[in-house]
Amino acid sequence: MPELTVDRKNPAPFPMVCMYCGAVAVTKREWQVVNRSPSAATGGGSDLGVVPVGDDPVSAAVGLLLLPVALWELVKGISAALGWITRPRAPARPEPRTPPRDPHTTLVAVTTCERHGRFTDRFVLAGAGMLVALVALWVWAVLVTRRVMGTDDTEFAVALILTALALTALLPLVLSFWYAFGGPVIVERVTEETVVLDRVRQRYFDATGTAPSGPDR
Ligand SMILES: [Zn+2]
Repeated sequence: MPELTVDRKNPAPFPMVCMYCGAVAVTKREWQVVNRSPSAATGGGSDLGVVPVGDDPVSAAVGLLLLPVALWELVKGISAALGWITRPRAPARPEPRTPPRDPHTTLVAVTTCERHGRFTDRFVLAGAGMLVALVALWVWAVLVTRRVMGTDDTEFAVALILTALALTALLPLVLSFWYAFGGPVIVERVTEETVVLDRVRQRYFDATGTAPSGPDR
């Protein structure tokens, strides 16, 4: 989807053009996004260091003592990856105590016309409708199955259960595809200097005479 990059240092005004259809916008939802460097968002790369490193004998002895611990951690890691241990992972390391020295923010906005003012609602409604439909289908399938249990007339019940299973697997997939490719405008990336909005429709760029910054321009 086309992306709209908002530069913190050169903020361009948001024209009142609907980001979904390019029509005249009547609503502008503005908010501040806190800028941060990409490395801080991913947690940095200094996660290792459980075993002290050093060439001196003390470090070697400590390393040797910790070898079973390290092996146990490895076994735990592998079994957790295989799903044998289902208990939750250890809590994440606490955040560094020092706050960012300069919490820059970028003002972003989503502009919408009257028709697209509550664009996200359709996904919420679709999700809720899907949930209700699936629950109803399962209740029906279970009721029918219980009624025909022990009789020869189980074909319809089996078909109902299979349909319920297939739709339970398929519908969330369809919904997430729809959301991914036709969903509302979201903040896709935040860097130190920019905020990138994703899923801004091409018609917005056509109407404003600008070019999207996404990969598929
Ligand atoms: Zn619109």
